[in-house]
Amino acid sequence: MPSPTNYTDTYLDKGRRKRMCEELKRHGISDALVLAAMGEVPRHWFLDPSIGANAYEDHAVPIGCDQTISRPSTVAMQSQLLAVKKDMKVLEIGTGSGYQTAVLCAMGAKVFSIERQHGLFVETKVKLLKLGYRAQCYYGDGYKGTPSLSNAPFDRIIITCGAPFIPLPLMQQLKVGGIMVIPVGETEQEMLRVTKNGETQEEWVVEKCGTGSYRFVPMLEGRQVNR
Ligand code: SAH
Repeated sequence: MPSPTNYTDTYLDKGRRKRMCEELKRHGISDALVLAAMGEVPRHWFLDPSIGANAYEDHAVPIGCDQTISRPSTVAMQSQLLAVKKDMKVLEIGTGSGYQTAVLCAMGAKVFSIERQHGLFVETKVKLLKLGYRAQCYYGDGYKGTPSLSNAPFDRIIITCGAPFIPLPLMQQLKVGGIMVIPVGETEQEMLRVTKNGETQEEWVVEKCGTGSYRFVPMLEGRQVNR
């Protein structure tokens, strides 16, 4: 996918972002950290320039490699459910365009992000670095969690693709007291927040959150080499 050639952020872009945040508030987003981060990160930098003003509309947008970036209200809702605090270690499954990664960085989290598509992984890793978002990006299979176990356990885990179930290795890499936000379902998903109150499964609290059903791209097994 072509990236912007020069990363400008005009008054028009800033204005669109401000309007997007007003809209998010009307959608029930109240977490100041989420609103500040989404008000700050230029979403259009993560999308094909031809998307133009639509970057700030509440739509899912294609990002190449048959993948889509979630609509702003979904990014905001997942980020709010995650209840991130500064300096927390957050694992993201599905780096994609890097927009959600950048939002988490702007919230002050230490972000580790895994992408299974090699093309997207390389492109987005380079882009995030260039834009100054200091996330650690990995090419790997999110079902297995971090390829570098020394990073685990995490305070928070966010899955940005539709998972058929809650992957056990990910729960094992979550700290006790930690929160996972994951859309679960085959064609449509419901948003689940899992709070890990202890090591045993009986101590995991699963809540259905959000507004009805979602359509994320599927969480697929294994790494994909070709674009
Ligand atoms: N957070 C991204 C969303 C991208 S769409 C953004 O803000 O743009 C979801 C991404 O999850 C896709 O890039 C897809 O390739 C990736 N994905 C799907 N299954 C995966 C898996 N098992 N491990 C890692 N990434 C996966």
